[in-house]
Amino acid sequence: MKLAVILLGVLSAAFLAALIFAFYKIVLMEKEAKHNLNIDEMTGVYNRDGFMRAGRETLEHSHSRSDGDIALIVFDVDKLRLINTLFGTEEGDKVVCAFAEAVKHIAGKGDVFGRVDTDDFALLAKLHGKQPSEIIDNFAKVLPTLIANGALYEQLNFYAGVCVYDGHDDIYTLFNKANLCLLTHSENQRVSEFTSDMESRMVENEIMRSEMLEALKNGQFELYYQPKVSFKSGEIVGVEALIRWHHPVKGFVPPCDFIPLAEQFGIITKIDEWGLMTACRQGKKWQDMDLHPVVISVNMSQAQFVRTDVFATVVHALEETGFDPKYLEIEVTETMAMMDVEHTVNVLNKIHGLGVSISMDDFGTGYSSLASLKTIPFDVLKIDRSLVCDVNDNDTSKRITSAIVAMGKALKMVVLAEGVETNEQCKLLTDLGCDLAQGYYYSKPRPANEIEAMLIFPVNSKMAI
Ligand code: C2E
Ligand code: CA
Ligand code: CA
Repeated sequence: MKLAVILLGVLSAAFLAALIFAFYKIVLMEKEAKHNLNIDEMTGVYNRDGFMRAGRETLEHSHSRSDGDIALIVFDVDKLRLINTLFGTEEGDKVVCAFAEAVKHIAGKGDVFGRVDTDDFALLAKLHGKQPSEIIDNFAKVLPTLIANGALYEQLNFYAGVCVYDGHDDIYTLFNKANLCLLTHSENQRVSEFTSDMESRMVENEIMRSEMLEALKNGQFELYYQPKVSFKSGEIVGVEALIRWHHPVKGFVPPCDFIPLAEQFGIITKIDEWGLMTACRQGKKWQDMDLHPVVISVNMSQAQFVRTDVFATVVHALEETGFDPKYLEIEVTETMAMMDVEHTVNVLNKIHGLGVSISMDDFGTGYSSLASLKTIPFDVLKIDRSLVCDVNDNDTSKRITSAIVAMGKALKMVVLAEGVETNEQCKLLTDLGCDLAQGYYYSKPRPANEIEAMLIFPVNSKMAI
């Protein structure tokens, strides 16, 4: 009996110990699972949730600190998408890991850092009297040492958004402010620090966004058309469709004031689709009126290629309007052609296959990628206005223009000079071998009805030089 009691005691103790052990293991596993939920698998640093949680704790414990002691810096990997396309995702992943290593390297004791987005890292840093710019300079020094691939090294760039802690914001507000700097900075500004007027600008932008959507619904956009003229015959051979916004309160808003914002907000795809459809409808109308036939060119933003099925959009516009594809031209910029090369080449080839022409806009301003000239089926090369404007006075501009014309000719493209304003420019550009001109010398962009009148008499004495 006594033995049975002892045995029972031992057994229940063993059972209890097993129970405690199992419970302890569950707690450990839960803790590990929670830890994993907060960690970015690829880089091993905090993910967004982990960063926010640890950042919140740091801020809570630093309430006694005075303003300006802590800063949140967001580092953005520039053009990760392009790197992935050009070098493969494995190399892209290496860049992401190098960013994580660099942030880890520059972080001080008690600083919190993490990967807060696919291509963004955040660092909540105690400044100890330093300027945030010193920390960023340090990052810029360390980062390249972590990249072994030379070609990749060439492409490496980052932007940084900074917000200094005011002693009141919570971690989310602080992060949003630093992130806002990345959304509003210009391309040649690597570091941008939060200022209170950024917030008001953000509110203004939000208003602009909803106004643009309203404008699309209420017919406030209109296409103007600018003639493209043959240097040889003076004949109008095409027109470029350029958008105009008749704002109910502000009046006329030029494209340079809203196209970049529309790109930033992702509305540009809707605007460009509207532009394409409107231009095709207009072109068909002119054809039905039996006017002098002209090619209509339409500007296409980069987003159209990245975010939408632009081939389907073009097919739809042509089918819906019955416009002859051989009179449609799509203008793309060279920077755009560089972005996602394989995809862009593929789509442009398909569009070209429909009989639509492709023209390279603003040539001579961006990367001037000769490789893209080889792979993309460009029919027209548009020399940028910045070269044309001083072609008569600046020998370098003249030489570059001459070289671009020679190259365009060698590749069997039509070469057009943009922004032609004077008779002297016309003479020189003709001598250099340019085929077409577009500019105020011939005509400003005009509403459709005025162009209609010009197409009844498509050659005038001024146009033939
Ligand atoms: P862009 O495609 O390079 O268009 C040519 C711009 O140069 C037009 O400005 C035109 O009015 C202006 N221009 C033409 N000839 C001359 C000249 O002799 N002298 C001067 N100083 N300027 C001249 P605009 O209409 O203000 O358009 C600006 C930019 O906005 C365009 O540049 C294009 O990038 C963009 N854009 C316009 N409409 C659309 C559109 O429907 N969709 C998209 N995605 N972008 C558009
Ligand atoms: Ca254009
Ligand atoms: Ca242009």
